[in-house]
Amino acid sequence: MTPHDTEELNAIREGVRALCAEFDAAYWRGIDERKGFPEAFVKALTEAGWLAAMIPAEYGGSGLGLAEASVILEEVNRCGGNSGTVHGQMYNMFTLLRHGSQAQKHYYLPKLASGELRLQSMGVTEPTTGTDTTKIKTTAIRRGDKYVINGQKVWISRIQHSDLMILLARTTPLAEVRKKSEGMSIFLVDLRQAIGNGLTVQPIANMVNHETNELFFDNLELPADSLIGEEGKGFKYILDGLNAERTLIAAECIGDGRWFIDKASAYARDRVVFGRPIGQNQGVQFPIAEAHIEIEAADLMRWRACEEYDSGGNAGASANMAKYLAAKASWEAANACLQTHGGFGFACEYDVERKFRETRLYQVAPISTNLILSYVAEHLLELPRSF
Ligand SMILES: Cc1cc2nc3c(=O)[nH]c(=O)nc-3n(C[C@H](O)[C@H](O)[C@H](O)COP(=O)(O)OP(=O)(O)OC[C@H]3O[C@@H](n4cnc5c(N)ncnc54)[C@H](O)[C@@H]3O)c2cc1C
Repeated sequence: MTPHDTEELNAIREGVRALCAEFDAAYWRGIDERKGFPEAFVKALTEAGWLAAMIPAEYGGSGLGLAEASVILEEVNRCGGNSGTVHGQMYNMFTLLRHGSQAQKHYYLPKLASGELRLQSMGVTEPTTGTDTTKIKTTAIRRGDKYVINGQKVWISRIQHSDLMILLARTTPLAEVRKKSEGMSIFLVDLRQAIGNGLTVQPIANMVNHETNELFFDNLELPADSLIGEEGKGFKYILDGLNAERTLIAAECIGDGRWFIDKASAYARDRVVFGRPIGQNQGVQFPIAEAHIEIEAADLMRWRACEEYDSGGNAGASANMAKYLAAKASWEAANACLQTHGGFGFACEYDVERKFRETRLYQVAPISTNLILSYVAEHLLELPRSF
């Protein structure tokens, strides 16, 4: 019994596992093969209320903490599923919850909690600026009771399965602000009205079965009350939500890692070559054991991040380090699992190659490993800022 084996967390684990049992490996494999979207799974998870975990009870959610929410996403991945299809609904609402007006919160949050509206998308990344977010070129210009949006975004996920999107755009030109992080604002875009009326969506074919897109804004008009919080403070608002997002992604990676380790261990026990189970060879055992150790260590940092966040502390360091450790450990576990399976690791019916592709993403998105190292060097070790 660890501090994280509480009755409440175990009840969440069991509940999510029971739901995931209805969406087995064949379900996820089929979706991957036809590059589909797991509509039935997302519907079931939404209707069971799991995606509304962090929406306060007064708005119809469960009012749970980051620890509980992280267990939900961990279990989805541990059961062989892909939380990347749903996690946006859990964390994109942070900006709205923390910085939205009373009217925005009262209108949107209950609809997000019930699943009537989907806020699965957040548009930050741009093709010409990448990680250098303060240089974004998408602009929002106030004209009367409207904002007019022009520009381009890339890699914006789940747009085709969302009703709303959080959008970061420049409201004051970079040359006119004191600090480069100022002058950007956050908008809540109603995709049902925007697409075809100034917003064009171009899907991006990619290595994972991940619905992601390029967005083109050509004089898209948004009502002025689409602005969240104060004009010019959008970058700060986005950063505010990132610690929770990073911790949730870390938990997903830990779920993946445990899935790979279980799968590799089972195969290594069963597969007989040279007259004995391959798992009897240390050359096969050790990479699996090493991956297990790394996942367990990453998990400790994930719990530290959850505890700091849920107690209202600054979880910046631990959330970043948890994401770094977990994404790295899940990738090592994926590699060990594939190697353990030999040729069969490449066969789609074993699901290893699919999960291998899926977990690789988390060293690049939503933040790349180098940027975490940079954060640690600058903010924890007081080394000179490198960019
Ligand atoms: C499948 C997928 C889904 C995504 N979904 C979303 C989404 O929904 N919304 C959204 O806004 N974005 C999304 N992204 C974008 C993602 O957040 C970015 O891809 C990521 O932040 C890296 O940015 P980039 O691709 O522009 O890389 P770049 O910024 O071009 O960097 C390329 C490489 O160089 C490294 N690098 C760059 N500068 C430095 C430096 N100064 N020091 C050290 N290394 C450096 C980076 O770490 C990276 O490895 C998604 C990406 C993918 C692949």
